[in-house]
Amino acid sequence: MSSCDTLGLNIENSYLSLPEHCYAKAQPAPIESPFLVIKNVSLAEELSLSFDQINDTDLAQVFCGNVVPTGATPISQAYAGHQFGNFTMLGDGRAHLIGEHVLPDGRKVDIQLKGSGRTPFSRGGDGKGAMGPMLREYIISEAMYGLGIPTTRSLAVVATGEPVYRKTVLPGAILTRVAASHVRVGTFQYAAAQGDTDTLKKLADFAIARHYPEVQQSETPYFDFLTAVMQRQIDLIVDWMRVGFIHGVMNTDNMAISGETIDYGPCAFMDAYDPQTVFSSIDVNGRYAFANQAPLANWNLARLAEAMLPLLDTDSKVAVKKAEQIIYGFDDLFQKAWLDMMCKKFGLFGEEDQDRDLVDGLLSVMTKQKMDYTNTFRALSTLHFGKEEGYSTEDFVAWLEIWQARQALNQPSPEASKTLMDSHNPWIIPRNHQVEEALELAEEEADLSKLHRLLDALASPYQEKEMYLDLTLPPAPSDRVYKTFCGT
Ligand code: AMP
Ligand code: MG
Repeated sequence: MSSCDTLGLNIENSYLSLPEHCYAKAQPAPIESPFLVIKNVSLAEELSLSFDQINDTDLAQVFCGNVVPTGATPISQAYAGHQFGNFTMLGDGRAHLIGEHVLPDGRKVDIQLKGSGRTPFSRGGDGKGAMGPMLREYIISEAMYGLGIPTTRSLAVVATGEPVYRKTVLPGAILTRVAASHVRVGTFQYAAAQGDTDTLKKLADFAIARHYPEVQQSETPYFDFLTAVMQRQIDLIVDWMRVGFIHGVMNTDNMAISGETIDYGPCAFMDAYDPQTVFSSIDVNGRYAFANQAPLANWNLARLAEAMLPLLDTDSKVAVKKAEQIIYGFDDLFQKAWLDMMCKKFGLFGEEDQDRDLVDGLLSVMTKQKMDYTNTFRALSTLHFGKEEGYSTEDFVAWLEIWQARQALNQPSPEASKTLMDSHNPWIIPRNHQVEEALELAEEEADLSKLHRLLDALASPYQEKEMYLDLTLPPAPSDRVYKTFCGT
């Protein structure tokens, strides 16, 4: 029995049912001495995998790609994408999809190795991943999961023992990523670029069966599919705005059709509130700044709609009208969903005309006073304000009075407001300076204690836990992280 069978991996490769040019069969590069750095026991349980039947040496063999499940056909997927607005043919240049693991309840998840060697889509790249970025994706994706936000997840990181040449020489690593699927907006763009409607239709049918089975019986399945994809993206971005997450590289190849957050590169959570915050070192024009995420999602969805035009109607003019009907609806839907979410953050029940002004009022005080996004909302729920300057400003005190009067309207009880706030405002987020410190220790001293502590704290982020209080503090000026680097 192979290690994969012992593990309980139950692999299908339904992506192979798509036309052959949608993927390339590709084997992960052999790794001489793989070493398991971290494994996700709770995710394994959720996936009905049994880590306890298999030792770490054998697990490392599986999670570096040396051993693949019986019958599996690893592939790399073809896709295209608008990267910072420019269209390019891409594809998995350093990732291998081992296959879809079928859970006992029939649900399918992709098991993908990232950093597992060159593929036919590697272009000039080496196909490798470095330890820091792979562990970073592990931490942030698990934090997102803890926050209750749709996301790909991380099952393991394996050290390859091989050097990776970037600006400096870095230790190599492979991440095992679990996703609802890896079909992206860019996958549709790839299919559209082939100029053959049959591929496009097969891809859309694949995505519908996997992620939107409810539209299968519709008379207008592709119209409904596009509408549903847009709704999930709206919900996702609203969630990002709720917790102060900045994706950093919202290129169309990094937007999953499933509605999960995918491709954690130079992403980060905001400390002090500033809508213009950008962390990505490659985002020099601030294209993907915190406040731009909704318009950019809208732009990406317009690219998806464009790619899908032949499926919306055989008459191209009618198809464009149908696409516009959906895409032009983004802003209203987003604004409404965003305000609903913000009202929950503020502990407000019902809808009142002044709500938008009330929300904007605090956000503008927070921007001006550089107040901490996470801690300010938790302070509002307890009315225990710390010593930060912002809380004693005239603007804030005046705002507080208006907010308290509004909060009393439609309110079942003060406790109900507090419960609402505390379930929408995290107590803890993965603060960049803490993440960087944990990664440095892990990389330089092979000490994972800080990383594990951070992961424990982030597993239940809405719950206040005295023992993790230090992790909730904003960075001292000297610890502020202004840039995060792409996960390459
Ligand atoms: P990302 O920035 O990770 O979203 O990747 C953008 C594109 O570059 C994708 O097609 C990746 O597969 C490819 N890519 C990123 N890093 C590498 C690498 N080290 N080797 C080969 N391809 C890569
Ligand atoms: Mg990507």
